[in-house]
Amino acid sequence: MVAVLVVQGGTLPAGADETAAEAGGQVVLVGDGTGAAADALRCGAEVACWEAGAFAPGRWAATLAPILDAHDVVVLPASPDGRDLAPRLAAAMGRPLVTGTVRVDRTGAIAATHGGRVHERYVARGPFVATLEPGCRGVGLADVPAERHVGPLAIEEPDGGGHAGLDAEILAVTPPDPAAMDLAESPRIFAGGAGLGDADNFALLGHVAEAFGASVGGTRVATDAGLLPHSRQIGTTGVTVRPRLYVAFGISGAVQHTGGLHDPGHVVSVNVDASCPMMAMADLALVADAPAVLRALAEIVATTPPGAAPPATTPPGATPLAATPLAATPLAATPLAATPLAATPPGAAPPGATAPHDEVVGGDEPGASSSADAGATSSAAGDTGEGR
Ligand SMILES: Cc1cc2nc3c(=O)[nH]c(=O)nc-3n(C[C@H](O)[C@H](O)[C@H](O)COP(=O)(O)OP(=O)(O)OC[C@H]3O[C@@H](n4cnc5c(N)ncnc54)[C@H](O)[C@@H]3O)c2cc1C
Repeated sequence: MVAVLVVQGGTLPAGADETAAEAGGQVVLVGDGTGAAADALRCGAEVACWEAGAFAPGRWAATLAPILDAHDVVVLPASPDGRDLAPRLAAAMGRPLVTGTVRVDRTGAIAATHGGRVHERYVARGPFVATLEPGCRGVGLADVPAERHVGPLAIEEPDGGGHAGLDAEILAVTPPDPAAMDLAESPRIFAGGAGLGDADNFALLGHVAEAFGASVGGTRVATDAGLLPHSRQIGTTGVTVRPRLYVAFGISGAVQHTGGLHDPGHVVSVNVDASCPMMAMADLALVADAPAVLRALAEIVATTPPGAAPPATTPPGATPLAATPLAATPLAATPLAATPLAATPPGAAPPGATAPHDEVVGGDEPGASSSADAGATSSAAGDTGEGR
């Protein structure tokens, strides 16, 4: 079995290590910046790099097909690029494609279907290609090889031979639009739940998220109510995300939702219930009315020119949120590591972070959840729970 990982700008795709681990450490890296990506890959034992330039799935599939033919199973992460390359690879190799799997081995695969409620076993009758959903398998210490070997992929036609015409011509590459970006790739996510209440507040969430350079996500309650498209649902039956910043507005933190949150860098939660699971897992927990916080943020971004520091004093009618480090930092242009958010100790209120009568609580006790709802749903169908 071999894992094929698409690299862009030296960055590994979502689910790279899980896919490498599933393939037993046998990996092909293809794209641009494969050397840096090989350094970042923890679960690769035998790593072959093909520095193939910009994404060209048609050409890559045609070139890789004969090389990968020796492997009975070829597995790719179900990242956007992986989902693009996998069917082309399967077609070029004349093999069946199994998508959305949560486990793969030489005998077949387990695919999560019907919104994650059903696990279907695919029994292999020969070689096949599969995509593995990021965030389902997880990786453990046993998946990290003690030794590894990195070298170039032995390839006869590194320039693609006569396959150049298989791909669309790229006229321009525009910067990612956080509003349209695949949530699995978003570094910043502002998410809304039932606590936001109505469509107006979700529109406000989108407006504020855009100003902060963040993508919008939400809970299943929000998507079921039609307040967000289903592609924006985070959780076990939605998208698995791994943002550097996750801000939850009016989200209780049910296990089916937090199951889709993979290693978030910083979690901020705004909720009227100080003891709900989302507040317990937050680095910064604001006990406050979520729509009111959004309105205050919207007011700040409306009066702050892009890139400029917000007013030092609280404008008339606005809450003291204007002085919070989160709002004061032009997130869209500033690396997260540089924001004072990272420096706020758990449980400590950043200067001016609280609205009048609001309370800030620490969120460093994951086991302290008091939500009966989360406990009651933790064994529901659809939570694969594997590897977490
Ligand atoms: C098989 C199955 C699969 C599922 N898959 C998913 C999934 O993929 N993703 C997912 O998200 N869910 C999923 N669910 C649903 C999940 O169990 C929860 O019901 C859901 O995540 C809860 O969404 P919520 O937090 O928006 O709503 P609630 O649990 O109702 O929480 C609302 C929160 O808002 C707070 N609140 C209320 N008013 C305010 C206010 N004015 N200001 C601030 N806070 C306020 C409340 O205190 C509460 O914490 C699944 C369920 C099942 C059974």
